[in-house]
Amino acid sequence: MTVIKVVQADITTLKVDAIVNAANTGLRGGGGVDGAIHQAAGMAELDAACAKFHGCPTGEAVITPGFRLPAKYVIHTPGPIWRGGNHNEDRLLANSYRHSLALAVQNDCRTVAFASISTGVYGFPLTRAAQIAIKTIRQFIAQDQRLTEVIICAFNAPTARAYQEAIEQN
Ligand code: ADP
Repeated sequence: MTVIKVVQADITTLKVDAIVNAANTGLRGGGGVDGAIHQAAGMAELDAACAKFHGCPTGEAVITPGFRLPAKYVIHTPGPIWRGGNHNEDRLLANSYRHSLALAVQNDCRTVAFASISTGVYGFPLTRAAQIAIKTIRQFIAQDQRLTEVIICAFNAPTARAYQEAIEQN
């Protein structure tokens, strides 16, 4: 059985098989969690590993080593930028979670921790994002039992609360 849980932490400190980064489509380290991950992993190594992909479309995912992070891998997924809700944002956000989970199991990961994809600078409404994230994770783990733990790593209390409520409701 796969456990889903919420922790409030800096994702760069988590000792899991893979952390999932809220990346941008250029896979160039940006601000927010992306910047923190590139810094903690080692800017030079992670930038070079990301550059090999020549970008990643929204909702897709790529995987690199974690370099100096406690996590073995970083999965980079560009979530959608919120544009009012009628531009496929929900489906693209679900794609980000689904493709990241698929990449994790393809790489023999057992434990995965997600940042709250798209809910920072990209402006996706938090409650809606949390519901989509948890529904998508639940659908995935119902089909594929290889993961032991999926963690949502919230950076603040409101984010932790939104995902906790989504877990209780879905
Ligand atoms: P996006 O561009 O996809 O919105 P952001 O990095 O702006 O990505 O924000 C995504 C989430 O990551 C936000 O909830 C933000 O508070 C959170 N965050 C920022 N730094 C960290 C960190 N070091 N560890 C975990 N979460 C973080």
